[in-house]
Amino acid sequence: MAIVAHICERCGAESGASANQSIGPSGAMWTLSFRCRTCGYTFEADCSYDTPEHIRNAILESGGVWGLKLASTGTERLKAVKILREALHMSLEDVARLKAAIPGLALQGTRLEMQYLQIQLAETGITSTVERIG
Ligand SMILES: [Zn+2]
Repeated sequence: MAIVAHICERCGAESGASANQSIGPSGAMWTLSFRCRTCGYTFEADCSYDTPEHIRNAILESGGVWGLKLASTGTERLKAVKILREALHMSLEDVARLKAAIPGLALQGTRLEMQYLQIQLAETGITSTVERIG
């Protein structure tokens, strides 16, 4: 469980909020759970859009950096690039980098981000592995 500093909306005191990711229909979702140590105010956030940088960094720090590895070559490699490009809305530059990385360590991120991509690939029969790399 990752802890991020959070300013209480009610009293302005700073407490730690616990951050987590889960797999949603369109990628890794993030959740934030906060209870103010000063005034007792609580809130839970459950969001499907991109995980904010400071929350993602805290998750990477506590949960480690994970890599998505692919052995795909030939047409399967191109199919994998297409799936990952669409899943991540990649820029052309990122796509070029991704192409150069397969076969091998295609991408890295949080465990759940990589697992989500692994599921997307598996749906079209492409095997990949997710392992901790940092
Ligand atoms: Zn408070």
